[in-house]
Amino acid sequence: LAKRDGQNNIRFYDPAVQAQLESRTELERDLRLAIEREEFVLVYQMQVDSQGRAIGAEALIRWQHATRGFVSPGTFIPLAEETGLIVPIGTWVLHAACEQLVMWQAAAHTKDLVLAVNVSAKQFQQPNFVDEVANALELSGASPHKLKLELTESTVIGKVEDTIARMHQLKALGISFAMDDFGTGYSSLQYLKRLPLDQIKIDQSFVRDLHQDEDDMAIVETIIAMGRSLGLNVIAEGVETMEHWRYLNEHQCHAYQGYYFCKPVAAEEMAKHCLAPPPVLS
Ligand code: C2E
Ligand code: MG
Ligand code: MG
Ligand code: MG
Repeated sequence: LAKRDGQNNIRFYDPAVQAQLESRTELERDLRLAIEREEFVLVYQMQVDSQGRAIGAEALIRWQHATRGFVSPGTFIPLAEETGLIVPIGTWVLHAACEQLVMWQAAAHTKDLVLAVNVSAKQFQQPNFVDEVANALELSGASPHKLKLELTESTVIGKVEDTIARMHQLKALGISFAMDDFGTGYSSLQYLKRLPLDQIKIDQSFVRDLHQDEDDMAIVETIIAMGRSLGLNVIAEGVETMEHWRYLNEHQCHAYQGYYFCKPVAAEEMAKHCLAPPPVLS
């Protein structure tokens, strides 16, 4: 498959492998350029309370590339994490999200929305991360009490003490924390009582088949009960149907996010959704 050329470089002759390597290299190159070319945008997905009323939103990044078209975060976030590009991208996200918060704070029907921002492990672990967040808040004038950071279990693994210390620094600024994709990582219970979390997000994989899978029902019920007894707010992601919403509601989940209520959309569109009457459970 591979041979060495005169310069001792490995050359691949499998066209599929070669194509894959090229596409990865090109993707990485384009990703490096994406920030300066201003190709990223944020879309927002509404989060609602048990009455279906808007209480907040999650910011989700989108990459609009000139020739690739729309690149999903599922494709480029892992590459950004591997290459370290997640650090500048994450900084851009923080600033853009804070600017949006300020705009929402200025309008009566959006002023109470809490905005959740995803933070990658590598980004959170940067020595100057706390300063970056403080800087984004200060430059924009956004209220820290309206900013929530979503971490995943991968941030915590092997770095429990550092994570706790850093979370406390950020909480001192007024920021809150959610544990994203809860239940899909490791050692959930070990750190759950130690981390200064405000919210856990039930992963959408447990919600998807909720009405037909008894194991998922048991898991979801347990997460809600455990979250509640630990004094945490519990939000379910991936709520796609009235049945999902009803089941979660009956088991006293606090908040909901999913296509049933609103897809991730542009900021203006999301603000309009906040004015619409909430759906009714029937
Ligand atoms: P996540 O943070 O768990 O976000 C939830 C994902 O579920 C989003 O996918 C959202 O569009 C999708 N979703 C929302 N409602 C539903 C539903 O009812 N059904 C289904 N099947 N899916 C739903 P998206 O936007 O493609 O983002 C994927 C992941 O990429 C995110 O998962 C997050 O891990 C990462 N990501 C997105 N934006 C950022 C960002 O700004 N920074 C970082 N570090 N990661 C991000
Ligand atoms: Mg998230
Ligand atoms: Mg999630
Ligand atoms: Mg997820």
